[in-house]
Amino acid sequence: MHEMSITLSMLDIVKEHMARHGVERLRQVRVRIGEMSAVEPESLRFCFEASIKDTPLDGAVLEIEEVPLTGRCRECGREFRIEGYLSRCPACSSLSIDHVAGHELDIISMEGEQFDA
Ligand SMILES: [Zn+2]
Repeated sequence: MHEMSITLSMLDIVKEHMARHGVERLRQVRVRIGEMSAVEPESLRFCFEASIKDTPLDGAVLEIEEVPLTGRCRECGREFRIEGYLSRCPACSSLSIDHVAGHELDIISMEGEQFDA
């Protein structure tokens, strides 16, 4: 289950960020997961909750934003949702397509309570 190693490295980033900003209680973490990132949202949520249980982060909420695979046509510039493996521009039928979204695996934001502000 590679979601566990993703969760642990995500929590490392979160903890480092909290330490740097003097945040002692984490309320929420928002992540963006592309359709092609091979991360199962429910599995990520499970790992997150298991990893923070009985730690200072316990009670934090994981918000997951799922990003569909999106392509841009190199011929006409049209952006569209890619479904299935054959991606063809719906406007000009070109097969020359770049992926512009759908591979993300990012922390977008985190919210916490700051005690030394
Ligand atoms: Zn096109």
